[in-house]
Amino acid sequence: MPKAQTQPYRALIDRLREVHLLESTGELLSWDQETMMPAAAVDHRANQLSLLARLAHERATASELGDILQSMPKQLEDPQQNANLREARRVFERSKKLDPKLVGEIAETSSRAQHAWAEARQKSDFRKFCPWLEKMVKLMRAKASCLCDDSMDILWDALAEEFEPGMRARDLREIFPPLRKELGSLLDQLRGASNPPADAASKIAVPQDQQEAMVRFVAERMGFDFDRGRLDRSAHPFCGGSHFADVRITTRFSDDNFLDALGSTMHEAGHGIYEQGLMAEHLGTPMGSAVSLGIHESQSRLWENQVGRSEEFWAWCQPQLSQFFGQSFAGLSARDLYATSNRAEPSLIRVEADESTYNLHIMIRFEMETALIAGDLDPADLPSAWNQAYREYLDLEVPDDRQGCLQDVHWSCGLFGYFPTYTLGNLYAAQFFAKASENLADLPAQLRAGEFGPLKEWLNTNIHAQGMRYPAGELCRRVTGRELDPAGFMTYLRDKVEPLYGKRMNGS
Ligand code: ZN
Repeated sequence: MPKAQTQPYRALIDRLREVHLLESTGELLSWDQETMMPAAAVDHRANQLSLLARLAHERATASELGDILQSMPKQLEDPQQNANLREARRVFERSKKLDPKLVGEIAETSSRAQHAWAEARQKSDFRKFCPWLEKMVKLMRAKASCLCDDSMDILWDALAEEFEPGMRARDLREIFPPLRKELGSLLDQLRGASNPPADAASKIAVPQDQQEAMVRFVAERMGFDFDRGRLDRSAHPFCGGSHFADVRITTRFSDDNFLDALGSTMHEAGHGIYEQGLMAEHLGTPMGSAVSLGIHESQSRLWENQVGRSEEFWAWCQPQLSQFFGQSFAGLSARDLYATSNRAEPSLIRVEADESTYNLHIMIRFEMETALIAGDLDPADLPSAWNQAYREYLDLEVPDDRQGCLQDVHWSCGLFGYFPTYTLGNLYAAQFFAKASENLADLPAQLRAGEFGPLKEWLNTNIHAQGMRYPAGELCRRVTGRELDPAGFMTYLRDKVEPLYGKRMNGS
């Protein structure tokens, strides 16, 4: 039974909920901007988002909130209340360091820069985006200078703290190089395979409305609740919305790549299931919020990859395809689809990358953005640095900026320090799924039968309902009994991919 709430605690929760109301209104407007808004509305929307960001920041740093926090004891006995207090203090201290003018300027610039980025990307013309990138890097350096503290080594750390509390560049510099080496040696090994999996499945053209019916069916089957969420279309799939009962996921379709739409939908539904799994009674407080983006990404990647790219999933999914697509996929067995969805091939576009190469795209972005924020890389030189990195990491020539440094939206909206959370998500996903498989003895049979409920409930209980009770690293330790260990991801990947390339003849 939770401890009785004291007056200051109740006042604290009321304040936090007000901030959340403002922030979540902004999130809804951002969702609208990406899905429904007419292009001509961009200026007004930038003003709306900027005002909301300033109002939320004002509330989040109000002296009354500071007084409440000061009047409260260092710790509270109830662990959930204590987590709310701990996080409220952390966020308050951090928000206080920011100049409100800077907050508004960042919100407004990011809305406009995003628009400029979309145009530049369409024309594959970096010069059109470069002034905006320069402006954004300058703003981010200013923001980081306000936020930097003794626990951080470089300005970039202060930005990353917003997405993955406690994550530092130095930690990633320990994780990334060995992972890069392992992935490189796996790719070298696969390159020599005489009989790599065919990609026939990704070349079959099927109407987009049929694809949509199919991906809705899968999302619902996974446990995404359409009474408390929506699925719409956007250029870049994402998960937004305003709270656990209003979760907006998006996906995208192309005529001849159904697997991309399926993977994107399962990914975003995984994010959505996390949001819908947050505890209603903790709405608008840290206990009712996701731990970090790395943990969020672990939920999406787990559904997209550990489930959606598994042999068991395809054994269930292949027979479903005829309901939606008639005979279009009739020539492909579950095994063919499984093999296609696990092809490992260096490619230019991060969001289309397979599991064997995906993390290399992230390492490149980490290298670029730490250099940009440190002032070691001039924004104007980004295309050449980017293209050079793709040669080194993936042995690829980047033909144009559209397929190069203009492909991702993140930097245009000030999301520096965000990319590495994708790789952390991949690593966490492998570790969580291994633990779920240990706890749920029938998991393979359940997946083969399209029964995703037990896995969803396991995630609901162990991760979603925990809110921000524990920091990400501690949550991982509590759920899996171990620190985050990249070795688990490599084992998972090798176990899956090597046999598909005929590289595991001796069962090593
Ligand atoms: Zn994601």
